[in-house]
Formats: sequence, structure tokens, C-alpha cells
Amino acid sequence: MFDSLSDKLDKALHVLKGHGQITEVNVAETLKEVRRALVDADVNFKIAKDFTNTVKEKALGQDVLKSLKPSQLMVKIVKDELTDLMGGDAEGINLSGQPSIILMSGLQGSGKTTFSGKLANFLKNKKTKKPLLVACDVYRPAAIDQLHVVGDQIGVEVYSNKEEKNPVKIAEAAIAHAKANGFNVVIIDTAGRLAVDEQMMNEISDIHQAIEPQETLFVVDAMTGQDAVNTAKAFNDRLNFDGVILTKLDGDTRGGAAISIKSVVNKPIKFIGTGEKMEAIDVFYPNRMADRILG
Ligand code: GDP
Repeated sequence: MFDSLSDKLDKALHVLKGHGQITEVNVAETLKEVRRALVDADVNFKIAKDFTNTVKEKALGQDVLKSLKPSQLMVKIVKDELTDLMGGDAEGINLSGQPSIILMSGLQGSGKTTFSGKLANFLKNKKTKKPLLVACDVYRPAAIDQLHVVGDQIGVEVYSNKEEKNPVKIAEAAIAHAKANGFNVVIIDTAGRLAVDEQMMNEISDIHQAIEPQETLFVVDAMTGQDAVNTAKAFNDRLNFDGVILTKLDGDTRGGAAISIKSVVNKPIKFIGTGEKMEAIDVFYPNRMADRILG
């Protein structure tokens, strides 16, 4: 994960160790390299610049140049800042509803259906949760079938109605079904499009308003880099969602989305997807991710 970014940051920060004396000049050079590594990883230029400026201020504030181990202190400052940029503490999902309603949003192909299954499986394994999956894509019958395949695979019931063409009605009927049958979590998978369009946004907003979910999650493919961040912004402007799910982090992704999304939409990344299998789900811990990136 993020191999190229890790290599570049490693090189940038270890330059400091090669110098007999650490000076303001080589700290500045290091930070320039750090910034370049972030931009190469598809982090927006302004975010990368703000990041290195903050690191610089902290380094000055902590008198790095006079410290016993300047390079170690610099690495620590960069790591702490990276953790902060990605969200600080891990944030769980709100499961306080009776039942708790979780609405999935995102573009087609982002991994919504797969993640809906992973989350249902993750919660089911907690024993106290009995999830119901709901298929609300009224355009693609194949999407409904796909959710049924996923549900069968993990042993979770799937609510669908291929005759009904109004997703709000399907969602409402599913919640009534959950209440009547002892399900305490309802995970609603919705229709996505290949790109942001008004009709999709209106539809997801209507569902959102009608069912008032405890959690609205935005699912995004990490491989799409800065597009992921722009799409997140478009969905957040309409839905004011609660958290981000970053999928396909097992692929050859450069890391930009993971690093910048929080600072753009001010919403935490809550889970990551690391493969196609139902078990390939992890809670997102910014500090652990920063550790991985900085090696
Ligand atoms: P949806 O259209 O948003 O519901 O997306 P899908 O759940 O159908 O996922 C689209 C494709 O991405 C499928 O082939 C999934 O198997 C794949 N996929 C989803 N999540 C991940 C992931 O975390 N890693 C990898 N490698 N593939 C994933």
C-alpha cells in the first residue's frame, strides 16, 4: 500500500541523517522533498503545501535544530501531522437507532454493494447485531442480484422488490420489515452512476430525507485519486454525510485520496476496503496508516 509514497518520504526524511550538521537549509530541502512526494501521490498541491508549512512551524517551535536527534524528531512531527491530516482518532459508526439505519452512497463501481456486504458481515460477527441488507437500485436488476449473491455468501437476509420503482418506498418497506422481524441494523445499498449527475443526487437526497439514517456513508474508490476527493465534495454538499469508506486500497493506489479527503470534506474515513472478499474490511486508524506510510 502506497509503496511509492513511502519510498519517497523515506528518502526525503533520511537525507537529514546524512548531514553532519542539520541546518535550516537542509530542513527546508527535506520539506520540499516531502511536499513533492505528497503531490506525486496525488495529494492536492495546496494541501501538500499547507502540510509542509505546518510541519515547518512545528519544527521551528520545537527547536528541532537544537534537539539531540533532529531527524527522529522531524519524522515524529511529520508522522503526527499526517495522522492529524487523515483525521486524528478513529471514528466508529453510530449504531444507536432501533433499528440503526445505514445509507450507502457513491458512484457506480465504487464498491458500495461489496462494502454493504462486508459491513453486514462485520456487524453480524459481533453477535449482538442482526443486519438486513436492502437493494435500492431500481435501474439495474443485476445490482439487486449481486446483493443477493453477497447476502447468501455471508448468511444475511436481503430485502428487495424488483416490481417497485421508487427507492424511497423500498427503503421504507425494508425498515418496516426490519422492525417487524427483529433486525437491528438496516444497510441500504443505493444506485450509483458513472459520474455525478443531478438525477442521482436528487434520488439519494430523497432517500436520505425520508428515512433519516443514523449513518450516511460515502463509498469511494481510492484508485481514482483527486477525482475521489472531488466526488466526495459533491456528495457531501448534498448529503452532509457522516463518513467515508475508501475501497480498493489493496490496488496500486498512490494514496492521495486517503491523505486529502478528510481535510476537504471534514468527515472521517471510517473503514477501508482491501480486497474483493467479504473479510477484506478494516477500521481506518489514521495513526496506523501514518505508521504504514512512513514505514
Ligand atoms: P458498486 O457499483 O458501487 O456497488 O460497486 P461493486 O461493489 O459492484 O464493486 C465494483 C467492483 O470493485 C467489483 O468487481 C468488486 O469486486 C470490486 N471491489 C470492491 N471493493 C474492493 C476492494 O476493496 N478491493 C478490490 N480489489 N476490489 C474491490
